[in-house]
Amino acid sequence: MTSRLILATRNAGKITELRAILAEAGLPHDLVGADAYPEIPDVRETGVTFAENALLKAHALAQATGLPAVADDSGLCVDVLNGAPGIFSARWAGRHGDDRANLDLLLAQLSDIAAEHRAAHFACAAALALPDGTERVVEGRLLGALRTEPSGTNGFGYDPILQPEGETRTCAELTPAEKNAISHRGKAFRALVPVVRELVG
Ligand code: IMP
Repeated sequence: MTSRLILATRNAGKITELRAILAEAGLPHDLVGADAYPEIPDVRETGVTFAENALLKAHALAQATGLPAVADDSGLCVDVLNGAPGIFSARWAGRHGDDRANLDLLLAQLSDIAAEHRAAHFACAAALALPDGTERVVEGRLLGALRTEPSGTNGFGYDPILQPEGETRTCAELTPAEKNAISHRGKAFRALVPVVRELVG
């Protein structure tokens, strides 16, 4: 029997990615995005960790729809900045979602920092919440180092400046399939598969 799972995002790319991961794992779930419920307002991300924000979004959607809900929250964590931009990644330069301004500000802040001190990672928390309040959260990371200049045109956000460990290319120079195979989001979503199997069936 196919049961419905709802994903707390209006980002079509994330829905496609999670659908593919669930299908690959043989889970027969009908995955829909939050757009299927336009009357439900977006949740304020008041948490101070990726996990808290992912859980907030998943619980709000599970309560509003009566369906098992999945949510994720992600960002870039720079070692020398003690993990910043972190949960502020999408609005580091002040305006939500201005990818180029965020990336330029970060490069300017790190302009004096040598290659050996430019370690950074993408982090993603993926949460599952049930309407009865049951919750689980898992995390995935993509470790790498920051370039001094952007390179590549694929992807989004900080992809042009993050070079994964063991790679000579930035994330923005990888194909989408190459990035999904190693990404923080791919890892978190794949770690969520056994959790969905256990709690949703
Ligand atoms: P969200 O979790 O989709 O809201 O992402 C938060 C922010 O983190 C994005 O706006 C990007 O700035 C950054 N980010 C998260 N994941 C990635 C990624 O895979 N590549 C580049 N930037 C990312």
